[in-house]
Amino acid sequence: MSQHCIFCRIARKEVPSQLVHEDEQCVVIQDINPQAPTHWLIFPKQHLERLHDLSEAGRPLLGHLLLTARSMAERAGVAQGGYRVVINNGDDGGQTVPHLHLHLLGGRAMHWPPG
Ligand code: 5GP
Ligand code: ZN
Repeated sequence: MSQHCIFCRIARKEVPSQLVHEDEQCVVIQDINPQAPTHWLIFPKQHLERLHDLSEAGRPLLGHLLLTARSMAERAGVAQGGYRVVINNGDDGGQTVPHLHLHLLGGRAMHWPPG
């Protein structure tokens, strides 16, 4: 847990959010600035800045986050039509919140390459 991290504060319910799902390991919220009809954020309760803070021991957590994205796509009703799961990492990756999170985007056709 990081005292000032916005996602840690959301996980602790110190900051309000549109909570979609919560379990022992992770939280799912609606993005405050949605880029698609469905734009949800999946993040671990444990404060990890980015993918590079995980090693082999993080394998079960990463599996859990990805499978949560899968089930959230079902819940959002975008599984059939298709969706995108994104992890922005570090400055060049476009990461703005330094707490590891997956973006689940769906409900419209995505473009490639991303900007
Ligand atoms: P990043 O750019 O780090 O990959 O994504 C951070 C995401 O978090 C952005 O899409 C941004 O809109 C979202 N975000 C930032 N602050 C908050 C917040 O306080 N609440 C919610 N729900 N989303 C946030
Ligand atoms: Zn954090």
